[in-house]
Amino acid sequence: MRGLKGKNVLVTGASSGIGRAIAIHFAAAGAHVAVNYRSSPKEAAEVIHEIRSNCEKAGIPADDLKNMTVQADVSKEEDVDSMFEQVIATLGGLDILINNAGLQIQGASHEIPISDFDKMIDINMRGAYLCARKAITHFLDHGGGVIVNDSSVHELIPRPRYVGYTMSKAGMQAMTRTLALEYARDNIRINSFAPGATLTPINPWKDDPEKKADIESHIPMGRSGTPEEMAAVAAFLASDEAAYITGQTLFVDGGLTLYPSFRTPWTG
Ligand code: NAD
Repeated sequence: MRGLKGKNVLVTGASSGIGRAIAIHFAAAGAHVAVNYRSSPKEAAEVIHEIRSNCEKAGIPADDLKNMTVQADVSKEEDVDSMFEQVIATLGGLDILINNAGLQIQGASHEIPISDFDKMIDINMRGAYLCARKAITHFLDHGGGVIVNDSSVHELIPRPRYVGYTMSKAGMQAMTRTLALEYARDNIRINSFAPGATLTPINPWKDDPEKKADIESHIPMGRSGTPEEMAAVAAFLASDEAAYITGQTLFVDGGLTLYPSFRTPWTG
């Protein structure tokens, strides 16, 4: 992919799932990767280990790539400030931010504890904004950069019992569009990709064959997505191949946003 080799990339929430796959994908494309984690240094170190062993397998000396782990809770401004300081000092700058960290908590919308609702807004939406602010400040002083946000089909599709999650991802869409417009003349592009059902730890049903089959029966392509399929799209949006795209959400969902119940046409 054009424009990733040698770039410095920060991936939030990169110790598992889609973020982990993104970190590994970008490193395989020759990027220097900072793996952010909140509370799992061991898993983050395993991601770096995998990046380095992939390099060796590809015949590239692992020390040719800089990489690091960095602890931060993205919902805390002081953590985010310190994370950006560490990443910029260690990698020598930042070219690409991937806002991936997120969580979902379900519950009836009139009953869910406000503390759970607040967590989803604070991490998924406010955390992405805190990181975007820091990245943009750096990009403005260094000739530009790219932000890719990991949104969700639920920025568009309502999801009963997930009001905090849907609101946070709809807010992420508004942020993507607003920042893209505001910084379009500054060589800063901001886009989102929106996964559908993806096989990661956020979805405990992935290990329950019956529930998984039920969920997949609603997906036009008949299967869940993989973290690697999401990583490929994040890489495309961050690369020079997407040089003229800004303010967009690319849905990566096996057709989930295409009114699946209309798949079988009415004949009457
Ligand atoms: P995951 O649980 O494996 O990954 C979420 C990551 O975010 C974890 O590593 C977690 O530690 C990290 N995180 C949570 N709170 C954090 C905080 N305060 N600070 C820093 N990191 C924090 O699940 P995933 O599916 O890989 O989720 C990644 C992103 O993808 C999320 O934003 C999620 O909303 C989005 N997404 C996932 C799916 C899916 O079906 N898996 C669908 C749509 C969108």
